[in-house]
This record gives sequence, structure tokens and C-alpha cells, in this order.
Amino acid sequence: MLGGGAAGSTIAIRLAALGLETYVFEKQSSLIDGPPMCHLHAGGNLYREIPDEDCVALLKQCIDIVRLYPYTIDVRPTVFAVPTRDAGMPEDLLPRLDTLTDAYHELIEQDINNKILGEPENYYQLYSHEQLIELSKREQVAIPSCVDEWMIPVAKYLDLNKVKFPLIVVQEYGWNIFRLAASAQLALAEYAHAHVFTSTTVKQVVAVDCENCSNIDHHVRKWRIDYQQNSDILDNEAKIDSIEVDYLINACGFRTGIIDDMVGVNVTRMVEFKSSYVTHWGETGGQIPEIIIYGARGTPEGMAQLTPYPNGYFQIHGMSKFITLFNDGLVASTKDSAQPKLPAQYVHYIEDGWDKAPLQARSQQSIDYVAEFVPTFSSARTVGNALYGGQQIPGVDDTLRVADVSLYPNLHYARAENVKASSTLIAADEIVQQLTEMGILDNDLPANHERYAHQWAYLMHNDSVAIDKVARVLAYERGFPIPMADVNHNLRTDILNNLTTADV
Ligand SMILES: Cc1cc2nc3c(=O)[nH]c(=O)nc-3n(C[C@H](O)[C@H](O)[C@H](O)COP(=O)(O)OP(=O)(O)OC[C@H]3O[C@@H](n4cnc5c(N)ncnc54)[C@H](O)[C@@H]3O)c2cc1C
Repeated sequence: MLGGGAAGSTIAIRLAALGLETYVFEKQSSLIDGPPMCHLHAGGNLYREIPDEDCVALLKQCIDIVRLYPYTIDVRPTVFAVPTRDAGMPEDLLPRLDTLTDAYHELIEQDINNKILGEPENYYQLYSHEQLIELSKREQVAIPSCVDEWMIPVAKYLDLNKVKFPLIVVQEYGWNIFRLAASAQLALAEYAHAHVFTSTTVKQVVAVDCENCSNIDHHVRKWRIDYQQNSDILDNEAKIDSIEVDYLINACGFRTGIIDDMVGVNVTRMVEFKSSYVTHWGETGGQIPEIIIYGARGTPEGMAQLTPYPNGYFQIHGMSKFITLFNDGLVASTKDSAQPKLPAQYVHYIEDGWDKAPLQARSQQSIDYVAEFVPTFSSARTVGNALYGGQQIPGVDDTLRVADVSLYPNLHYARAENVKASSTLIAADEIVQQLTEMGILDNDLPANHERYAHQWAYLMHNDSVAIDKVARVLAYERGFPIPMADVNHNLRTDILNNLTTADV
């Protein structure tokens, strides 16, 4: 496995659970430290422009992956508002929300443990202007326990003159990157045959057992991976280690094209550099839901996304070129290389961290962007860190949000290409299917049934407290406020008990 991001780690867990000798090479010092995730797209409602079937696919993937990573979720609703300046109407979204409600119903009928987003009839709710006015008169509840209570701060803080009604509240939850990284680390630690090499860079892959190399019938049965410890690279040491593998999986995120070029496959893809900003707002008066203000992507009025974390921390996305997007941030592959070339400035941000001045400027712009709709948010302060990275988008459609993996059975090669982190378990399933067809895996392994029943080994002896511990260390090591490693609301205890068998 080349790359230990959300894709590489999840695929490695799935393969290791099947008993396969699995090697993960990750450049960073810990797993899942690439582009972030903060929102579980359980219905894709952030994206008005994508087809309904993609939204249903996102719903299914999200419910599936939460069952592998149940301790990574912050249970709170997301409020969607159409601003008055926008051509769309809230009602335009209702047919899709009904389709999603039906799909959620079906998932629960298939397996009651899929019921992680609450009752299907409460998947979404609508709030009229009159209801909001009434709620604005109620006292805020520090720890909300029902949707009305979550909506009190929205009624108090959102500028109700700038949005159309009804507001839509959907059970799309928060997804915590530090807890996901901690879960993946603990999950892989369960398997003696899962070998995780962090702080290790793959320098080269070479076909060692191949035939018909110069024509279309090219076959490879073994690959050699040459890798180097980062400390040796820094010390200019020439020492390179190698290992031979039967099957090569490229999960290098926005750098997958570099490996594609080494393997010799021609691929069309894009890469987009995007960033979100971490801020602190001390005047919330209690917990608030995630708030989305819709807008046309890439315009100065693109979507604003205010994502809450514990203790008054907030992550902000603004889909304008002043906040999350960048003028030259979307690049495409060429006929000569499968690797799109990001401008050096953004590669520098990814590899060395943001420069202070532009980070401060963009963080402040993000606060101002949200404050247009949540006026008291203007008192929020920048924290001096951002969650950002390069995202790969297979093909040529930059609105694509559902993609998982490409398989090359003749080359014993697969490339993970998820746009959203939730697609990674599906990608793993497709690779397992491929390995089975190739005879590398047995057809009827019990562990394969365990995957569909979501009996993951690490869930047997790790609970929320174990995840807290590792996640806090990761947040600290990565320079983020430690409370960002926590969640305000885990999944309900009865749901967690059904999803896990933790006996610590
Ligand atoms: C600003 C932003 C916000 C986002 N928000 C969400 C969200 O809310 N919800 C959601 O589901 N998704 C979100 N995404 C998308 C999500 O981040 C990606 O889908 C996901 O992180 C991709 O995972 P990956 O494993 O494919 O790639 P990565 O996480 O990029 O992992 C690739 C790994 O490969 C390693 N690597 C690369 N080359 C080498 C090499 N030669 N040797 C060793 N290691 C190597 C890298 O260090 C990296 O860790 C967001 C993306 C961005 C940019």
C-alpha cells in the first residue's frame, strides 16, 4: 500500500482483516494526515449540483464507513440555508431529501444497525420563519438534546433577513480527522501481519516479474517497492530498502499520478488545492449545529460552511477564491504525465505548512465571510492553523464527488481515487473482489462475512476513551488545539453498543 491516508489505511485494514500480509508506506509521521474531512456527507446535501443517485451513494457509503469508525463522529445536525441573493429555493431540495429518507429507510430494513442517523422520518426537518422567531425568544441550551434546542442559537445568531425559508435541518454529522487517524492506527495495530512504515517515502516502483512489457498485453505479477526513511533522506543517506509484493495499491492521494507514471498507465485526472481555517469563537453560549449557506462555487458568493468542534473551535470553508479555493488551484494531467502539477507555492504549503501572513489573511477573510450571515461571528479569532491539502478528482468533471478505485488486473495494480473519504471502504471491497477473482484470496473467507457484519477486531478492545487518548496526541503533534480531537456528542451509547463489542 503506497500512502496511508484515509484510503490507504482503510484498504489496509480490510486486507489485513482477511489475513493478508500487508505493507503500508506513509511519508507523514502518522496515518491520515493529508487533506481533511470534517463533514460526514450522509446524503451529499452540501452539493446541490450533483445527481440524486450520487447523493444516495454517499448516504450508503457514509453509514457503512461509520460502522468501521464509530468513534469518529460528532453527532449534531447540519442546517442548510439558501441566501436571499441566491437564485435557488429551499423547496428545490425537498424531492432529493425524500429520496434520501426512503433510501435510509431501506438501509435500516436491511440491517437495523444501519440506524445511526436517528429515525428516518427525522432525517430532515424544515423550519419556517415564524418558528425561528419563536425559537429566538427561548433561552439557549448549552448542550442541546433535540432539534428545536439545536435551532435556538441558529435563530438567535443567523441573520434571518438574509436567508430564504424554510431552513432545512439534516442529520449530517461531523467527522473528526484526528479520531479517524487514531482509529485507523489502533485498527492496524491489531494485526501482526499489517506492517506500517510511517515517516517513510516510496521512491520508486519497478515491475520485477512481467512479460510483453512493450505492448498492450503487458502483464506484471510482482512489484518491487523502493522506499527510504525520511530521516535518511534528510541526512542525504543513500540507503534505500526494497520489498517485493504480489499486488501494488497506489493510495497516494493527490500524488497518485507520480506512481501511475512509474507503472506506465495513462490516466486523466485533476488535482485541486483547497483549504479551510481554524478559528475560535468564545461567544456561542453553548453548542451550535453546523451551518451551511449555499452559494455558487468559485464565485465571491460561494458556499460558506461553519463546522463546530468542542470548546468554541470552528473550522470554516468558503467556496470562493478568497477563502477555500485558489485562482490556480485546480490543475489537470497532461498527455505526457498522469500527475497534474500544482503550483510550487501550494506544494510548499502541503509539505512545509502555510506561510504565516497569507494564512492569517485568509483565516480573517473566512471569519468575515461567515460574519456576513452570522454577524456576532465577527468576534471570532484566528488560531493560526488550517486544515487543507490536495484532492484528486479522477476524470475531467470537477463537480464529481463519488469515485473510489481503478483496477488493472493484468498489472496486479490498483489505484484508490476517492474524492470523499467515505468512499474508501467501497474501494477496499472492489480490491478484495479483484484479488478473489485473481485467486490471490479465497472465495469464502469468514473474515469477508465479518466485514459485512462490521465485526472489526479493534472495536473489541478499544472504546471512546482509547480513541480520545491517541487522537489528542495526534492533534497536539500536528499543532492543533487539543479540544479539536474530541467530539461534543458520540453516537448514542445504545447505538455504539450495537456497533462495537468493546470490553475494556
Ligand atoms: C479542504 C478539504 C476539505 C475536505 N473535507 C472533506 C469532508 O468534509 N468529508 C470528506 O469525506 N472528505 C473531505 N475532503 C476529501 C478528503 O480529504 C479526501 O477524500 C481524502 O483525504 C483522500 O484520502 P486519500 O487517502 O485518497 O488521500 P490522502 O489523504 O492525500 O493520502 C495519501 C497519502 O499518501 C502519502 N504519500 C503520497 N506519496 C507518497 C510516497 N511517495 N511515499 C509515501 N507516502 C506517500 C501522503 O503523505 C498521504 O498521506 C476534503 C478535502 C479537502 C482538500
